[in-house]
Amino acid sequence: MSPIVGIDLGTTNSLVAVFHHGRPQLIPNAHGKFLTPSIVGVLESGDVVVGETARELRITQPTRCAWAFKRWMGQTRQVKIGMSVFTAPELSALVLKSLKQDAEVFLQQPVTEAVVTVPAYFNDHQRKATRMAGELAGLVVRRIINEPTAAALAYGFQDRHVEKRLLVFDLGGGTFDVTVMEVTGGAMEIKATAGENFLGGEDFTDRLVAEILTRAGMTLEAEEHLRPRRVARLRAECEAAKRELQHAETASIRQVDAEGNLAEPPAVTSLTRDEFRHIVDPLLRRLRVPIEQALRDARLSPSQVDDVILVGGASRMPSVVGLVAAMFGRAPNAELNPDEIVALGAAVQSALMNDLAEVDDLVMTDICSHSLGVEVVKVVGDWFEKGFFDPIIHRNTTIPVSREKSYRSVPGAEKVLIQIFQGEARRSSDNLLLGELWVTGITPTATGTEISIRFTYDLSGLLEVESFIAGSPKKFQVVLNQEAAGLSAADLERALERLRKLKIYPRDRLENRRLLQFCERLVGEIAPHWRDSLEAMLDPLEAAMSLGDFARFIEAKRAMLDFLASLGIDTAEFEGGEHVE
Ligand code: AMP
Repeated sequence: MSPIVGIDLGTTNSLVAVFHHGRPQLIPNAHGKFLTPSIVGVLESGDVVVGETARELRITQPTRCAWAFKRWMGQTRQVKIGMSVFTAPELSALVLKSLKQDAEVFLQQPVTEAVVTVPAYFNDHQRKATRMAGELAGLVVRRIINEPTAAALAYGFQDRHVEKRLLVFDLGGGTFDVTVMEVTGGAMEIKATAGENFLGGEDFTDRLVAEILTRAGMTLEAEEHLRPRRVARLRAECEAAKRELQHAETASIRQVDAEGNLAEPPAVTSLTRDEFRHIVDPLLRRLRVPIEQALRDARLSPSQVDDVILVGGASRMPSVVGLVAAMFGRAPNAELNPDEIVALGAAVQSALMNDLAEVDDLVMTDICSHSLGVEVVKVVGDWFEKGFFDPIIHRNTTIPVSREKSYRSVPGAEKVLIQIFQGEARRSSDNLLLGELWVTGITPTATGTEISIRFTYDLSGLLEVESFIAGSPKKFQVVLNQEAAGLSAADLERALERLRKLKIYPRDRLENRRLLQFCERLVGEIAPHWRDSLEAMLDPLEAAMSLGDFARFIEAKRAMLDFLASLGIDTAEFEGGEHVE
Protein backbone atom coordinates (compact mmCIF):
# COMPACT_ATOMS: atom_id res chain seq x y z
CA MET A 1 0.00 0.00 0.00
CA SER A 2 1.43 3.37 -0.94
CA PRO A 3 1.74 5.48 2.21
CA ILE A 4 -0.32 8.63 2.83
CA VAL A 5 1.97 11.17 4.41
CA GLY A 6 0.86 13.78 6.93
CA ILE A 7 2.02 17.33 6.19
CA ASP A 8 2.00 20.39 8.42
CA LEU A 9 2.31 23.24 5.91
CA GLY A 10 3.30 26.04 8.28
CA THR A 11 3.81 29.78 7.82
CA THR A 12 7.44 29.60 8.85
CA ASN A 13 8.23 25.89 8.93
CA SER A 14 6.73 22.78 7.40
CA LEU A 15 7.05 19.13 8.43
CA VAL A 16 6.18 15.77 6.95
CA ALA A 17 5.39 12.62 8.92
CA VAL A 18 4.26 9.10 8.18
CA PHE A 19 2.60 6.35 10.15
CA HIS A 20 5.38 3.80 10.21
CA HIS A 21 5.91 0.68 12.33
CA GLY A 22 2.83 1.35 14.43
CA ARG A 23 3.41 4.99 15.28
CA PRO A 24 3.59 8.45 13.69
CA GLN A 25 7.15 9.35 12.76
CA LEU A 26 8.69 12.58 11.47
CA ILE A 27 10.72 12.47 8.25
CA PRO A 28 14.06 14.32 8.06
CA ASN A 29 14.88 16.67 5.18
CA ALA A 30 18.09 16.80 3.11
CA HIS A 31 19.87 18.46 6.05
CA GLY A 32 18.74 15.78 8.50
CA LYS A 33 16.26 18.14 10.17
CA PHE A 34 12.53 17.75 10.72
CA LEU A 35 11.68 21.44 10.26
CA THR A 36 11.88 22.74 6.70
CA PRO A 37 11.61 26.54 6.56
CA SER A 38 8.65 27.52 4.33
CA ILE A 39 10.87 29.82 2.28
CA VAL A 40 11.47 29.72 -1.47
CA GLY A 41 14.45 31.37 -3.12
CA VAL A 42 15.57 31.77 -6.71
CA LEU A 43 19.35 31.77 -7.24
CA GLU A 44 20.97 33.99 -9.85
CA SER A 45 21.31 30.87 -12.03
CA GLY A 46 17.51 30.57 -11.95
CA ASP A 47 17.58 27.44 -9.77
CA VAL A 48 14.92 27.27 -7.10
CA VAL A 49 15.95 26.49 -3.54
CA VAL A 50 13.56 25.67 -0.72
CA GLY A 51 14.01 25.47 3.05
CA GLU A 52 17.28 25.97 4.92
CA THR A 53 19.21 27.16 1.87
CA ALA A 54 16.51 29.70 1.04
CA ARG A 55 16.55 30.88 4.65
CA GLU A 56 20.26 31.68 4.39
CA LEU A 57 19.70 33.36 1.03
CA ARG A 58 16.94 35.53 2.52
CA ILE A 59 19.41 37.28 4.81
CA THR A 60 21.77 38.40 2.05
CA GLN A 61 19.33 38.59 -0.88
CA PRO A 62 15.81 39.10 0.49
CA THR A 63 14.47 40.22 -2.88
CA ARG A 64 15.28 36.76 -4.28
CA CYS A 65 13.13 35.02 -1.68
CA ALA A 66 9.49 34.64 -0.69
CA TRP A 67 8.27 33.62 2.77
CA ALA A 68 5.16 33.70 4.96
CA PHE A 69 3.11 33.13 1.81
CA LYS A 70 0.66 31.00 3.78
CA ARG A 71 -0.70 34.36 4.90
CA TRP A 72 -1.96 35.12 1.42
CA MET A 73 -3.35 31.72 0.53
CA GLY A 74 -6.76 32.20 -1.05
CA GLN A 75 -5.87 35.65 -2.40
CA THR A 76 -4.96 36.52 -5.98
CA ARG A 77 -1.72 38.26 -4.94
CA GLN A 78 1.47 37.39 -6.84
CA VAL A 79 5.11 37.97 -6.01
CA LYS A 80 8.07 38.32 -8.34
CA ILE A 81 11.30 36.65 -7.30
CA GLY A 82 14.19 36.61 -9.71
CA MET A 83 12.61 36.44 -13.14
CA SER A 84 9.60 34.42 -12.05
CA VAL A 85 6.18 35.37 -10.73
CA PHE A 86 4.50 33.12 -8.18
CA THR A 87 1.16 32.81 -6.41
CA ALA A 88 0.89 31.54 -2.82
CA PRO A 89 -0.30 28.05 -3.90
CA GLU A 90 2.64 27.81 -6.32
CA LEU A 91 5.15 28.73 -3.62
CA SER A 92 3.46 26.32 -1.21
CA ALA A 93 3.63 23.67 -3.92
CA LEU A 94 7.41 24.08 -4.06
CA VAL A 95 7.60 23.49 -0.30
CA LEU A 96 5.28 20.48 -0.58
CA LYS A 97 7.36 19.10 -3.45
CA SER A 98 10.48 19.30 -1.35
CA LEU A 99 8.72 17.48 1.53
CA LYS A 100 7.39 14.88 -0.90
CA GLN A 101 10.93 14.27 -2.10
CA ASP A 102 12.22 13.92 1.48
CA ALA A 103 9.46 11.38 2.17
CA GLU A 104 10.31 9.44 -0.99
CA VAL A 105 13.98 9.27 -0.03
CA PHE A 106 13.05 8.19 3.50
CA LEU A 107 10.46 5.59 2.48
CA GLN A 108 12.25 4.45 -0.68
CA GLN A 109 9.02 4.55 -2.68
CA PRO A 110 6.89 7.10 -4.54
CA VAL A 111 4.61 9.25 -2.39
CA THR A 112 1.49 10.56 -4.10
CA GLU A 113 -1.06 11.09 -1.35
CA ALA A 114 -1.17 13.33 1.67
CA VAL A 115 -3.21 14.64 4.56
CA VAL A 116 -2.46 18.36 4.83
CA THR A 117 -3.25 20.48 7.86
CA VAL A 118 -4.59 24.05 7.86
CA PRO A 119 -5.43 26.49 10.66
CA ALA A 120 -8.92 25.73 11.98
CA TYR A 121 -9.88 29.27 11.13
CA PHE A 122 -8.95 29.01 7.43
CA ASN A 123 -11.95 29.79 5.25
CA ASP A 124 -13.07 27.89 2.20
CA HIS A 125 -10.89 29.82 -0.28
CA GLN A 126 -7.79 29.27 1.83
CA ARG A 127 -8.56 25.54 2.07
CA LYS A 128 -9.05 25.32 -1.67
CA ALA A 129 -5.77 27.11 -2.27
CA THR A 130 -4.06 24.55 0.02
CA ARG A 131 -5.59 21.68 -1.92
CA MET A 132 -4.43 23.28 -5.14
CA ALA A 133 -0.88 23.59 -3.79
CA GLY A 134 -0.94 19.83 -3.17
CA GLU A 135 -2.15 19.16 -6.68
CA LEU A 136 0.60 21.36 -8.14
CA ALA A 137 3.15 19.42 -6.11
CA GLY A 138 1.92 16.13 -7.52
CA LEU A 139 0.08 15.11 -4.37
CA VAL A 140 -3.53 14.03 -4.08
CA VAL A 141 -4.71 15.74 -0.92
CA ARG A 142 -6.85 12.99 0.59
CA ARG A 143 -8.00 15.14 3.47
CA ILE A 144 -7.49 18.65 4.77
CA ILE A 145 -7.67 18.66 8.55
CA ASN A 146 -7.54 21.44 11.08
CA GLU A 147 -4.23 21.90 12.87
CA PRO A 148 -5.72 21.68 16.39
CA THR A 149 -7.63 18.57 15.34
CA ALA A 150 -4.34 17.04 14.27
CA ALA A 151 -2.78 18.10 17.57
CA ALA A 152 -5.66 16.40 19.40
CA LEU A 153 -5.14 13.23 17.38
CA ALA A 154 -1.44 13.13 18.30
CA TYR A 155 -2.36 13.76 21.94
CA GLY A 156 -5.11 11.13 21.87
CA PHE A 157 -2.86 8.57 20.19
CA GLN A 158 -0.26 8.96 22.89
CA ASP A 159 -2.57 9.18 25.87
CA ARG A 160 -5.60 7.00 25.18
CA HIS A 161 -7.01 6.59 28.63
CA VAL A 162 -7.45 10.18 29.65
CA GLU A 163 -10.79 11.84 30.24
CA LYS A 164 -10.22 15.52 29.91
CA ARG A 165 -11.45 18.82 28.64
CA LEU A 166 -8.63 20.30 26.62
CA LEU A 167 -7.91 23.66 25.10
CA VAL A 168 -5.47 23.61 22.20
CA PHE A 169 -3.68 26.95 21.95
CA ASP A 170 -2.07 27.04 18.50
CA LEU A 171 0.14 30.04 17.78
CA GLY A 172 2.09 29.44 14.59
CA GLY A 173 4.18 31.81 12.52
CA GLY A 174 1.20 33.61 11.00
CA THR A 175 -2.03 32.27 12.42
CA PHE A 176 -3.68 31.75 15.78
CA ASP A 177 -6.31 29.13 16.64
CA VAL A 178 -7.97 28.11 19.86
CA THR A 179 -9.89 24.86 20.04
CA VAL A 180 -11.82 23.40 22.95
CA MET A 181 -12.33 19.63 22.95
CA GLU A 182 -13.26 16.68 25.08
CA VAL A 183 -11.19 13.52 25.12
CA THR A 184 -12.76 10.39 26.55
CA GLY A 185 -10.73 7.21 26.18
CA GLY A 186 -9.76 7.55 22.52
CA ALA A 187 -12.89 9.47 21.49
CA MET A 188 -12.14 13.09 20.74
CA GLU A 189 -14.90 15.59 20.30
CA ILE A 190 -14.21 19.13 19.16
CA LYS A 191 -16.54 21.55 20.94
CA ALA A 192 -15.59 24.98 19.67
CA THR A 193 -12.95 26.78 17.72
CA ALA A 194 -12.02 30.42 17.24
CA GLY A 195 -9.05 32.26 15.88
CA GLU A 196 -7.37 34.98 13.87
CA ASN A 197 -5.82 34.37 10.47
CA PHE A 198 -3.36 37.24 10.73
CA LEU A 199 -1.75 36.85 14.12
CA GLY A 200 1.36 34.76 14.71
CA GLY A 201 4.98 34.61 15.77
CA GLU A 202 6.09 36.65 12.75
CA ASP A 203 4.04 39.59 14.05
CA PHE A 204 5.99 39.46 17.30
CA THR A 205 9.28 39.63 15.36
CA ASP A 206 7.94 42.44 13.17
CA ARG A 207 6.96 44.48 16.22
CA LEU A 208 10.44 44.12 17.60
CA VAL A 209 12.02 45.11 14.25
CA ALA A 210 9.70 48.12 14.04
CA GLU A 211 10.55 49.15 17.61
CA ILE A 212 14.32 49.01 16.99
CA LEU A 213 13.95 51.07 13.82
CA THR A 214 11.62 53.58 15.49
CA ARG A 215 14.14 54.10 18.28
CA ALA A 216 16.68 54.99 15.57
CA GLY A 217 14.21 57.40 13.92
CA MET A 218 13.16 55.12 11.04
CA THR A 219 9.99 53.30 10.06
CA LEU A 220 9.70 49.64 9.12
CA GLU A 221 7.62 50.38 5.99
CA ALA A 222 10.11 52.90 4.60
CA GLU A 223 13.17 50.79 5.39
CA GLU A 224 11.60 47.66 3.93
CA HIS A 225 11.15 49.55 0.70
CA LEU A 226 14.46 51.45 0.63
CA ARG A 227 16.85 49.10 2.39
CA PRO A 228 15.45 45.55 2.36
CA ARG A 229 18.85 44.05 3.24
CA ARG A 230 19.01 46.06 6.45
CA VAL A 231 15.51 44.91 7.43
CA ALA A 232 16.27 41.29 6.50
CA ARG A 233 19.37 41.14 8.68
CA LEU A 234 17.73 43.03 11.50
CA ARG A 235 14.80 40.62 11.31
CA ALA A 236 17.21 37.68 11.65
CA GLU A 237 18.74 39.38 14.70
CA CYS A 238 15.32 40.06 16.25
CA GLU A 239 14.16 36.51 15.53
CA ALA A 240 17.23 35.14 17.32
CA ALA A 241 16.70 37.49 20.28
CA LYS A 242 13.02 36.51 20.52
CA ARG A 243 14.02 32.85 20.72
CA GLU A 244 16.84 33.55 23.19
CA LEU A 245 14.33 35.06 25.59
CA GLN A 246 12.75 31.62 25.95
CA HIS A 247 15.68 30.61 28.16
CA ALA A 248 17.35 33.90 29.13
CA GLU A 249 16.14 37.00 30.95
CA THR A 250 18.06 39.24 28.54
CA ALA A 251 18.97 38.94 24.88
CA SER A 252 21.14 41.12 22.69
CA ILE A 253 20.44 42.40 19.20
CA ARG A 254 23.45 43.36 17.10
CA GLN A 255 22.99 46.66 15.29
CA VAL A 256 22.84 46.67 11.51
CA ASP A 257 24.07 49.44 9.22
CA ALA A 258 22.28 50.85 6.17
CA GLU A 259 23.97 48.36 3.82
CA GLY A 260 22.64 45.46 5.84
CA ASN A 261 25.96 44.57 7.50
CA LEU A 262 26.58 44.39 11.21
CA ALA A 263 27.50 47.85 12.47
CA GLU A 264 31.16 48.67 12.77
CA PRO A 265 32.38 49.15 15.47
CA PRO A 266 30.15 46.37 16.80
CA ALA A 267 27.19 47.62 18.82
CA VAL A 268 24.36 45.80 20.51
CA THR A 269 20.97 46.70 21.89
CA SER A 270 19.99 44.64 24.89
CA LEU A 271 16.44 43.47 25.40
CA THR A 272 14.91 42.10 28.58
CA ARG A 273 11.88 39.79 28.78
CA ASP A 274 9.90 42.62 30.38
CA GLU A 275 10.79 45.07 27.61
CA PHE A 276 9.82 42.51 25.00
CA ARG A 277 6.52 41.85 26.78
CA HIS A 278 5.84 45.57 26.78
CA ILE A 279 6.65 45.91 23.05
CA VAL A 280 4.33 43.05 22.07
CA ASP A 281 1.58 43.89 24.55
CA PRO A 282 -0.99 44.82 21.84
CA LEU A 283 -0.48 41.36 20.30
CA LEU A 284 -0.81 39.63 23.67
CA ARG A 285 -4.10 41.42 24.21
CA ARG A 286 -5.37 40.21 20.82
CA LEU A 287 -4.63 36.61 21.85
CA ARG A 288 -7.19 36.82 24.65
CA VAL A 289 -10.15 37.45 22.33
CA PRO A 290 -10.36 34.05 20.54
CA ILE A 291 -9.65 32.23 23.84
CA GLU A 292 -12.62 33.95 25.45
CA GLN A 293 -14.80 33.32 22.41
CA ALA A 294 -13.98 29.59 22.20
CA LEU A 295 -14.67 29.15 25.92
CA ARG A 296 -17.97 31.03 25.58
CA ASP A 297 -18.99 28.91 22.57
CA ALA A 298 -18.12 25.71 24.46
CA ARG A 299 -19.95 27.06 27.54
CA LEU A 300 -16.93 26.54 29.75
CA SER A 301 -15.11 28.71 32.25
CA PRO A 302 -11.30 28.65 32.31
CA SER A 303 -11.35 26.60 35.53
CA GLN A 304 -13.32 23.83 33.79
CA VAL A 305 -10.48 23.22 31.31
CA ASP A 306 -8.24 20.38 32.58
CA ASP A 307 -5.26 20.97 30.31
CA VAL A 308 -4.03 23.63 27.89
CA ILE A 309 -1.88 22.17 25.10
CA LEU A 310 0.56 24.53 23.42
CA VAL A 311 1.01 24.10 19.68
CA GLY A 312 3.13 26.12 17.21
CA GLY A 313 6.63 27.43 17.79
CA ALA A 314 5.46 30.88 18.88
CA SER A 315 3.64 29.40 21.89
CA ARG A 316 7.10 28.96 23.46
CA MET A 317 7.46 32.67 24.21
CA PRO A 318 7.49 33.20 28.00
CA SER A 319 5.15 36.17 27.58
CA VAL A 320 2.64 33.89 25.84
CA VAL A 321 3.06 31.07 28.39
CA GLY A 322 2.57 33.71 31.10
CA LEU A 323 -0.64 34.96 29.51
CA VAL A 324 -2.06 31.42 29.29
CA ALA A 325 -1.02 30.65 32.87
CA ALA A 326 -2.66 33.85 34.10
CA MET A 327 -5.90 33.17 32.21
CA PHE A 328 -6.21 29.54 33.32
CA GLY A 329 -4.58 29.72 36.73
CA ARG A 330 -2.08 26.96 35.90
CA ALA A 331 0.92 26.27 33.69
CA PRO A 332 0.09 24.89 30.23
CA ASN A 333 1.02 21.36 29.17
CA ALA A 334 4.46 21.30 27.57
CA GLU A 335 4.90 17.53 27.19
CA LEU A 336 4.61 17.39 23.42
CA ASN A 337 6.92 19.34 21.13
CA PRO A 338 4.79 22.26 19.86
CA ASP A 339 6.57 22.24 16.49
CA GLU A 340 6.00 18.57 15.82
CA ILE A 341 2.60 17.65 17.21
CA VAL A 342 0.55 18.79 14.18
CA ALA A 343 2.50 16.78 11.60
CA LEU A 344 2.42 13.73 13.88
CA GLY A 345 -1.35 14.11 14.20
CA ALA A 346 -1.72 14.35 10.42
CA ALA A 347 0.10 11.01 10.18
CA VAL A 348 -2.33 9.55 12.74
CA GLN A 349 -5.18 10.79 10.52
CA SER A 350 -3.63 8.99 7.56
CA ALA A 351 -3.54 5.79 9.65
CA LEU A 352 -7.25 6.31 10.41
CA MET A 353 -7.95 6.65 6.69
CA ASN A 354 -6.07 3.42 6.02
CA ASP A 355 -8.06 1.67 8.81
CA LEU A 356 -4.89 0.58 10.54
CA ALA A 357 -5.35 -1.64 13.60
CA GLU A 358 -3.14 0.58 15.79
CA VAL A 359 -5.74 3.37 15.66
CA ASP A 360 -8.99 1.42 15.58
CA ASP A 361 -9.97 2.70 19.03
CA LEU A 362 -9.54 6.35 18.05
CA VAL A 363 -12.61 8.32 17.03
CA MET A 364 -12.54 11.95 16.09
CA THR A 365 -15.46 14.28 15.53
CA ASP A 366 -14.78 17.67 14.04
CA ILE A 367 -16.77 20.87 13.66
CA CYS A 368 -17.09 23.58 11.06
CA SER A 369 -15.25 26.66 12.17
CA HIS A 370 -17.34 29.24 10.30
CA SER A 371 -21.09 29.65 9.83
CA LEU A 372 -22.55 28.79 6.42
CA GLY A 373 -25.68 30.45 5.12
CA VAL A 374 -27.43 32.48 2.46
CA GLU A 375 -28.11 36.11 1.67
CA VAL A 376 -31.63 37.22 2.54
CA VAL A 377 -33.78 40.28 2.06
CA LYS A 378 -35.33 41.78 5.20
CA VAL A 379 -38.48 43.80 5.53
CA VAL A 380 -37.45 47.05 7.14
CA GLY A 381 -40.46 49.29 7.81
CA ASP A 382 -42.42 49.13 4.58
CA TRP A 383 -39.60 48.33 2.20
CA PHE A 384 -37.23 45.44 1.46
CA GLU A 385 -33.56 45.75 2.31
CA LYS A 386 -31.07 43.43 0.66
CA GLY A 387 -27.72 42.07 1.78
CA PHE A 388 -28.28 40.30 5.10
CA PHE A 389 -26.61 37.00 5.98
CA ASP A 390 -28.72 34.22 7.44
CA PRO A 391 -26.78 31.17 8.76
CA ILE A 392 -28.16 27.70 8.03
CA ILE A 393 -25.27 25.81 9.65
CA HIS A 394 -23.90 27.70 12.62
CA ARG A 395 -20.20 27.76 13.46
CA ASN A 396 -18.98 25.00 15.77
CA THR A 397 -21.64 22.54 14.56
CA THR A 398 -20.37 18.95 14.58
CA ILE A 399 -19.75 17.66 11.05
CA PRO A 400 -20.88 15.90 8.91
CA VAL A 401 -24.17 17.78 9.18
CA SER A 402 -27.29 18.42 7.15
CA ARG A 403 -29.64 21.33 7.96
CA GLU A 404 -32.70 22.68 6.17
CA LYS A 405 -34.40 26.06 6.46
CA SER A 406 -37.43 27.58 4.72
CA TYR A 407 -37.61 31.03 3.17
CA ARG A 408 -40.17 32.98 1.18
CA SER A 409 -39.41 34.51 -2.20
CA VAL A 410 -40.19 38.20 -2.64
CA PRO A 411 -43.75 38.78 -3.96
CA GLY A 412 -44.03 38.33 -7.70
CA ALA A 413 -40.66 36.62 -8.16
CA GLU A 414 -40.36 34.00 -10.93
CA LYS A 415 -36.80 33.04 -10.01
CA VAL A 416 -34.50 33.45 -7.05
CA LEU A 417 -30.73 33.62 -6.87
CA ILE A 418 -29.44 31.85 -3.76
CA GLN A 419 -26.08 33.28 -2.76
CA ILE A 420 -24.07 31.07 -0.40
CA PHE A 421 -21.77 32.71 2.13
CA GLN A 422 -19.34 31.69 4.85
CA GLY A 423 -18.65 33.90 7.87
CA GLU A 424 -20.14 35.50 10.94
CA ALA A 425 -20.94 39.06 9.83
CA ARG A 426 -24.54 40.34 9.74
CA ARG A 427 -24.09 41.82 6.27
CA SER A 428 -23.35 39.23 3.59
CA SER A 429 -20.85 41.53 1.85
CA ASP A 430 -18.60 41.22 4.91
CA ASN A 431 -18.58 37.42 4.55
CA LEU A 432 -17.05 35.16 1.93
CA LEU A 433 -19.11 34.34 -1.16
CA LEU A 434 -18.78 30.60 -1.83
CA GLY A 435 -21.17 30.12 -4.73
CA GLU A 436 -24.59 30.67 -6.23
CA LEU A 437 -27.64 28.67 -7.20
CA TRP A 438 -30.56 29.80 -9.39
CA VAL A 439 -34.03 28.52 -8.51
CA THR A 440 -36.31 29.06 -11.51
CA GLY A 441 -39.87 28.32 -12.61
CA ILE A 442 -41.54 29.82 -9.54
CA THR A 443 -45.20 30.68 -10.05
CA PRO A 444 -45.40 34.35 -9.07
CA THR A 445 -47.72 35.11 -6.19
CA ALA A 446 -48.59 38.26 -4.28
CA THR A 447 -47.28 36.86 -1.00
CA GLY A 448 -44.16 35.04 -2.32
CA THR A 449 -43.54 31.31 -2.52
CA GLU A 450 -42.00 29.03 0.09
CA ILE A 451 -38.53 27.80 -0.85
CA SER A 452 -36.55 25.41 1.31
CA ILE A 453 -32.78 25.25 1.29
CA ARG A 454 -30.78 22.29 2.58
CA PHE A 455 -27.05 22.51 3.36
CA THR A 456 -25.05 19.31 3.74
CA TYR A 457 -21.46 19.73 4.88
CA ASP A 458 -19.06 16.80 5.09
CA LEU A 459 -15.72 16.08 6.73
CA SER A 460 -13.66 16.99 3.70
CA GLY A 461 -15.31 20.41 3.46
CA LEU A 462 -17.69 19.55 0.63
CA LEU A 463 -20.84 21.67 0.81
CA GLU A 464 -23.92 20.47 -1.05
CA VAL A 465 -26.76 22.98 -1.40
CA GLU A 466 -30.20 21.78 -2.49
CA SER A 467 -33.33 23.82 -2.92
CA PHE A 468 -36.99 22.93 -3.41
CA ILE A 469 -40.03 25.02 -4.31
CA ALA A 470 -43.00 24.13 -2.09
CA GLY A 471 -45.41 21.85 -3.94
CA SER A 472 -42.98 21.10 -6.77
CA PRO A 473 -40.96 17.88 -7.14
CA LYS A 474 -38.13 19.71 -8.88
CA LYS A 475 -34.79 19.92 -7.07
CA PHE A 476 -32.11 22.58 -7.67
CA GLN A 477 -28.64 21.62 -6.58
CA VAL A 478 -25.05 22.79 -6.48
CA VAL A 479 -22.01 21.13 -4.94
CA LEU A 480 -19.33 23.53 -3.82
CA ASN A 481 -16.32 21.35 -3.98
CA GLN A 482 -12.72 21.80 -3.08
CA GLU A 483 -11.44 22.66 -6.51
CA ALA A 484 -9.02 25.54 -6.58
CA ALA A 485 -10.81 28.82 -5.89
CA GLY A 486 -11.65 30.70 -9.05
CA LEU A 487 -9.35 28.55 -11.18
CA SER A 488 -10.39 26.61 -14.22
CA ALA A 489 -8.75 23.36 -15.30
CA ALA A 490 -6.84 25.38 -17.93
CA ASP A 491 -5.51 27.81 -15.28
CA LEU A 492 -4.37 24.86 -13.22
CA GLU A 493 -2.66 23.26 -16.20
CA ARG A 494 -0.85 26.54 -16.95
CA ALA A 495 0.37 26.78 -13.35
CA LEU A 496 1.57 23.18 -13.53
CA GLU A 497 3.40 23.92 -16.75
CA ARG A 498 5.12 26.96 -15.19
CA LEU A 499 6.23 24.91 -12.21
CA ARG A 500 7.45 22.09 -14.45
CA LYS A 501 9.74 24.56 -16.22
CA LEU A 502 11.44 25.65 -13.01
CA LYS A 503 14.84 24.20 -12.32
CA ILE A 504 14.82 22.85 -8.79
CA TYR A 505 18.21 22.78 -7.15
CA PRO A 506 19.23 19.10 -6.71
CA ARG A 507 18.45 17.76 -3.26
CA ASP A 508 21.79 15.96 -2.82
CA ARG A 509 23.70 19.21 -3.39
CA LEU A 510 21.68 21.41 -1.11
CA GLU A 511 24.03 20.87 1.81
CA ASN A 512 26.93 22.54 -0.02
CA ARG A 513 24.77 25.30 -1.39
CA ARG A 514 23.69 26.08 2.13
CA LEU A 515 27.33 26.28 3.24
CA LEU A 516 27.95 28.80 0.49
CA GLN A 517 24.90 30.82 1.48
CA PHE A 518 25.92 30.64 5.13
CA CYS A 519 29.42 31.97 4.34
CA GLU A 520 27.96 34.75 2.25
CA ARG A 521 25.84 35.80 5.19
CA LEU A 522 28.90 35.65 7.43
CA VAL A 523 30.77 38.10 5.18
CA GLY A 524 28.46 40.86 6.42
CA GLU A 525 28.64 39.71 10.02
CA ILE A 526 32.24 39.06 11.00
CA ALA A 527 34.81 41.64 12.02
CA PRO A 528 36.45 43.40 9.04
CA HIS A 529 39.89 41.89 9.70
CA TRP A 530 38.41 38.41 9.16
CA ARG A 531 36.32 39.41 6.22
CA ASP A 532 39.15 39.36 3.69
CA SER A 533 40.26 35.86 4.74
CA LEU A 534 36.69 34.62 4.51
CA GLU A 535 36.19 36.06 1.05
CA ALA A 536 39.54 34.67 -0.08
CA MET A 537 38.28 31.22 0.82
CA LEU A 538 34.77 31.71 -0.45
CA ASP A 539 35.90 32.53 -4.01
CA PRO A 540 37.68 29.20 -4.72
CA LEU A 541 34.85 27.28 -3.03
CA GLU A 542 32.28 28.93 -5.27
CA ALA A 543 34.49 28.48 -8.34
CA ALA A 544 35.07 24.78 -7.63
CA MET A 545 31.34 24.27 -7.15
CA SER A 546 30.33 25.96 -10.36
CA LEU A 547 33.11 24.24 -12.37
CA GLY A 548 32.20 20.87 -10.89
CA ASP A 549 35.87 20.30 -9.98
CA PHE A 550 35.61 17.68 -7.25
CA ALA A 551 39.26 17.66 -6.08
CA ARG A 552 39.39 21.46 -5.77
CA PHE A 553 36.00 21.53 -4.13
CA ILE A 554 37.00 19.03 -1.40
CA GLU A 555 40.14 21.03 -0.70
CA ALA A 556 38.32 24.38 -0.62
CA LYS A 557 35.52 23.04 1.54
CA ARG A 558 38.00 21.57 4.06
CA ALA A 559 39.87 24.87 4.25
CA MET A 560 36.59 26.74 4.76
CA LEU A 561 35.35 24.42 7.49
CA ASP A 562 38.69 24.68 9.32
CA PHE A 563 38.53 28.45 9.06
CA LEU A 564 34.93 28.54 10.37
CA ALA A 565 35.90 26.23 13.22
CA SER A 566 38.76 28.59 14.12
CA LEU A 567 36.11 31.32 14.49
CA GLY A 568 34.28 29.12 16.99
CA ILE A 569 31.49 28.12 14.58
CA ASP A 570 30.09 24.61 14.92
CA THR A 571 30.65 23.07 11.48
CA ALA A 572 29.27 19.59 12.20
CA GLU A 573 26.16 20.15 10.11
CA PHE A 574 28.21 21.03 7.03
CA GLU A 575 30.39 17.93 7.16
CA GLY A 576 29.75 15.13 4.65
CA GLY A 577 27.50 15.45 1.59
CA GLU A 578 30.48 15.61 -0.76
CA HIS A 579 28.70 16.21 -4.02
CA VAL A 580 29.81 18.89 -6.36
CA GLU A 581 27.74 20.78 -8.85
P1 AMP B 1 5.20 27.58 12.71
O1 AMP B 1 6.43 26.91 12.24
O2 AMP B 1 4.40 28.22 11.63
O3 AMP B 1 4.39 26.76 13.67
O4 AMP B 1 5.65 28.81 13.66
C1 AMP B 1 6.90 29.12 13.93
C2 AMP B 1 6.89 30.43 14.68
O5 AMP B 1 7.31 30.16 15.98
C3 AMP B 1 7.82 31.48 14.13
O6 AMP B 1 7.21 32.75 14.14
C4 AMP B 1 8.99 31.45 15.11
O7 AMP B 1 9.59 32.71 15.24
C5 AMP B 1 8.31 31.05 16.39
N1 AMP B 1 9.20 30.36 17.32
C6 AMP B 1 9.79 29.15 17.19
N2 AMP B 1 10.55 28.87 18.26
C7 AMP B 1 10.45 29.93 19.10
C8 AMP B 1 10.99 30.24 20.40
N3 AMP B 1 11.82 29.43 21.03
N4 AMP B 1 10.66 31.43 20.95
C9 AMP B 1 9.83 32.28 20.29
N5 AMP B 1 9.27 32.04 19.08
C10 AMP B 1 9.58 30.88 18.50
